[in-house]
Amino acid sequence: MDRTVDFIAIGSGAAAMSAALRAHDLGAEVLLLEATDRYGGSTAMSGGVCWVPNNPHMAAAGVPDRPEDALTYLRNIVGESTPDEILRTYVSESRRMVEYLEEKSAVRFEALEKYCDYYPEVEGGRPGGRSMECTPYDGRELGAEFARIRPPHPQSQVMGIFGLTAREAHTLLSNTWRSKVLLIKRLLAAALHLPARKKWGRDPRLTAGNALIARLRRSLMDRGVELSLSTVVQELIIDDGRVVGVVAERDGTKQRIGARKGVLLSAGGFSRNKAMRQEHQPSPITDEWSAGNLRSLGDGHRMGVAAGGRLVHMDKAWWTPTIRIPRQELAWVIVVEKNLPHSIMVSDAGQRFTNEAAPYLDVVQGMYAAEAAPAWMLFDASFRRNYPVGPLAPGYAVPDKRVSKKFLHGFLKKADTLTDLAAAMEVPAQALLGTVERFNGMVDAGVDTDFGRGESLSDRYYGDPRVQPNPCLGRIQTGPFYALRVYPGDLGTKGGLVVDTHGRVLAGDGAPIPGLYAAGNCAAPVMGRTYPGAGGTIGPAMVGGFLAAEAAAENESGRGDA
Ligand SMILES: Cc1cc2nc3c(=O)[nH]c(=O)nc-3n(C[C@H](O)[C@H](O)[C@H](O)COP(=O)(O)OP(=O)(O)OC[C@H]3O[C@@H](n4cnc5c(N)ncnc54)[C@H](O)[C@@H]3O)c2cc1C
Repeated sequence: MDRTVDFIAIGSGAAAMSAALRAHDLGAEVLLLEATDRYGGSTAMSGGVCWVPNNPHMAAAGVPDRPEDALTYLRNIVGESTPDEILRTYVSESRRMVEYLEEKSAVRFEALEKYCDYYPEVEGGRPGGRSMECTPYDGRELGAEFARIRPPHPQSQVMGIFGLTAREAHTLLSNTWRSKVLLIKRLLAAALHLPARKKWGRDPRLTAGNALIARLRRSLMDRGVELSLSTVVQELIIDDGRVVGVVAERDGTKQRIGARKGVLLSAGGFSRNKAMRQEHQPSPITDEWSAGNLRSLGDGHRMGVAAGGRLVHMDKAWWTPTIRIPRQELAWVIVVEKNLPHSIMVSDAGQRFTNEAAPYLDVVQGMYAAEAAPAWMLFDASFRRNYPVGPLAPGYAVPDKRVSKKFLHGFLKKADTLTDLAAAMEVPAQALLGTVERFNGMVDAGVDTDFGRGESLSDRYYGDPRVQPNPCLGRIQTGPFYALRVYPGDLGTKGGLVVDTHGRVLAGDGAPIPGLYAAGNCAAPVMGRTYPGAGGTIGPAMVGGFLAAEAAAENESGRGDA
C-alpha cells in the first residue's frame, strides 16, 4: 500500500460524510475520496430534506409521533420489498443519528410540520413533521472550502441568485401577502450579500442540500478529517476474501490505499450510466432525463459486484417527472407545477393516464404503466399567468412578450386553440379535446373521478390554496394553451447492493463480505419500491453511512468483522 488509514468512504455526499463523521468519533483515521473537484454530490444539489420519523423536533412542531406508528406506516407502504428488520432499524436508529449529529456536530435540523408524508392517509402516516431540513448556513464559515462545495441545482435558485429553504419555498408559492413580504426580505438580504457574492461568485446564505453538506463539511473540518477531491476510486483491493483497501487515481497517478477497518461504497447511484440504465430499467430510458449529479456512474455498484455483492431493485429510481431546458446540463424536476390547477398530463394519444398531483415517483410509474413515456403537461393561460413553470416566472411578473421566442419555444409549445396545440404536439386533436372536456366536467364537480387528483393531503401540499374546493383542479379553458414535454426522470437511482442492518454488503450466500459496506444510492433502498415522504432518500443515506461506520469501528485492526 502507498498509505493506510482505518476507514475509507468513497464520495462526499450524505452517506459518505455521515459515515466519516461517525467513524472519526469512534477513533478511526478516516479518508474521503471524491471523484470530482467539488464535494457534496447529488446531496448538495438537492432539496436537502431528510425523512426521519419520530424525530426529536416533531413534538415541539405540534405533530408528535410514535415509533410504532412509523413502523406501521413503513410496513404498509414498503411492504415486503424490504426486510422488516431493516425497517425496524431505520425507525429506531434514524432518531438516534439525528440526536447524535445535533449534539456533536454543526448539523441542525428543523421539522417541516406542514410537509406531510407522501401517503398521509395510510395507517401510521403523519400530516407533517417527519420531513426535516437543515437551517440555513453561512458558506463563509467554511473558509476556502466554500469555493469547493457543489453548487445547488439551478432550479432551486431564485432569479439564479439565491436559494430558499423548503419552508420558504412553500410560503412563496402560496402567493399571499406573507409570500410577498418574504420575497422582499430575501431580496434585501441578497442585496446586502452583494460584496460576498462578488468575492465568492455566489450568495453565502446556503439552504437546502447545500446547507446540509456545508454543515457536515464544517463538522469534518473541525475534526480534521481528510477529503481528497479529484480522486477517482477505480477498484477495491481484496485479500483472501476481505476488502483491505482501494486503488484510486489522482492527477494521472494511481495509489493503493489500505483501509484497516473497512471501505464504504457511497458513490451514489447510476443515473448517468446509460448502458446500466438500458440494461436494468424500463424503456424508454436514458441518462439525460435525470436531475442529479453527472458523476453518478454506478462505480460503487460495479466494485461491489466484483467483490461478490448482489444488486436488487435495479429497475427502480427515485422517479420524478422532469423537463429539459435549452442550454441546461441538468433536467429540471416538476414536482410543484404538476399539482397546480388548470393543467393536466396526457400521453401522445391525448389521454390522461394518472393522478398528476400524486407523489412524483408514482407519476412516473403511472407514465410507464400506461406506456405514456415521455408525456405532455398541458396548461392554459390562467396557469401561465399565476404559476411558475420551469425557469419561467408567473406571467403576471414575466409575461410571454418579455421572454425571447427562441427560449420560450425551446421547451414548450404554444397555440391559441387546443386544436392548434394538438397539431403542434402531434397528438390526435379529437382525443385531446375530449380529454379536456371530460376533465373540465370533473373540475366543475370538484372531484376527479378518474384518478382522484387533489384527494390526498399530499396532492394539496403544492396545490393552490386559493382555489376551492379542490386546490389541484382548475378548468383548462382560456387560451393561449401550452404544452411541455415531460420525461420519466429521476433524482437518482434506487437499485443497489444488498446490505444488512449494519450496512455490511452481503454476498450471494447471505454472508457479509469482510471489510465492505454500502450506503446511500449504492445500497439497496430502505424504502424498497416506494417513497415515504420528502427526504426519503437522504434520510436512509445518512443513517446507512452512520451505522456502517459504527459496524466498521468494531473491526479489530482489519480482522474479525463485527
Ligand atoms: C434536484 C434534486 C433534489 C433532491 N431533493 C431531495 C430531497 O429534498 N430529499 C431527499 O431525500 N433526496 C433528494 N434528492 C435525491 C438525493 O439528493 C440523492 O438521492 C442523495 O443525495 C444520494 O446521496 P448519496 O450519498 O448516495 O450520493 P451523492 O450525494 O450523489 O454522493 C456520491 C458522491 O460520490 C462521488 N463518486 C462517484 N463515483 C466515484 C468514484 N469512483 N470515486 C470517488 N467518488 C465517486 C460523486 O461524485 C458524488 O460526489 C434530490 C435530488 C436532486 C437531483
